[in-house]
Amino acid sequence: MPPTTRFAPSPTGYLHLGHAFSAWCGWHRARCAGGRFLLRLEDIDPGRCHPEYAAAILEDLAWLGLDWDGPVRIQSQHLPDYRAALDRLSGMGLLYPCFCTRADIQREVAASAAAPHGPDGAPLYPGTCRRLSEAERQDRVAAGEPHALRLDMNAALKASPRSELTYQEEGQGRLPCHPERFGDVVLARKDAPASYHLCVTHDDALQGVTLVTRGVDLQPATDLHRLLQTLMDWPEPAYAHHHLLTDDTGRRLAKRDRAATLRAMRDAGAAPRDILERFAA
Ligand code: GLU
Repeated sequence: MPPTTRFAPSPTGYLHLGHAFSAWCGWHRARCAGGRFLLRLEDIDPGRCHPEYAAAILEDLAWLGLDWDGPVRIQSQHLPDYRAALDRLSGMGLLYPCFCTRADIQREVAASAAAPHGPDGAPLYPGTCRRLSEAERQDRVAAGEPHALRLDMNAALKASPRSELTYQEEGQGRLPCHPERFGDVVLARKDAPASYHLCVTHDDALQGVTLVTRGVDLQPATDLHRLLQTLMDWPEPAYAHHHLLTDDTGRRLAKRDRAATLRAMRDAGAAPRDILERFAA
């Protein structure tokens, strides 16, 4: 079966060469095999995403010659979908409201002897609100106290067969998942209706993505994504995590490198062909 791939940028800045490479990886895989290449804007974080960047991303991809199939899915236009997924997890008893502020968590972590850290290096949530009674949860939610929704990781692990917690990484076979490394991860933030992890897995399933191509920096998240897929009975895509582009000094390209944006490169006289040749090398 020809693959369905996707590029799913968050419009938090102009497209830089590293992201464009990611887009090209998905596009190239689909186009070489007669598959489909989808585009999705992951713009549910109102504090960081801007429509101006969303428009610029579409324009830059078109300039580069990377065409996509079907309409662009814009996550902020589908919030009820993510709400429904959260409700399902909640109905399975796998979510709990968390009222902690950042300062509460820091205090709690500082007070504990051994605070385990997650894949991003941040300390794991110490589980404070998991221990609240159902009555207290309900009272505080009813009183309108701001809260996030967290996955009860232990309960989630119990609810999903261990044997399914592996994934197919291209060229590497099946790799094991260790979602427990994320602890009680936030699936809906106080200030954003759903998390990246929930929306990305929901949409890959909804859109029929069969091959997820993305940077190796996102590979640790796959462990959690497989857990969500098994809990929700969503189909399992294959994964191809690609290397990250680096600058001349070997440093990974990042959004802060203005010169590496496609806009800056275009203004400096680069042609799409120069960039595509670099990707294909
Ligand atoms: N929206 C994510 C980002 O821009 C990428 C999502 C993915 O490819 O899984 O970092």
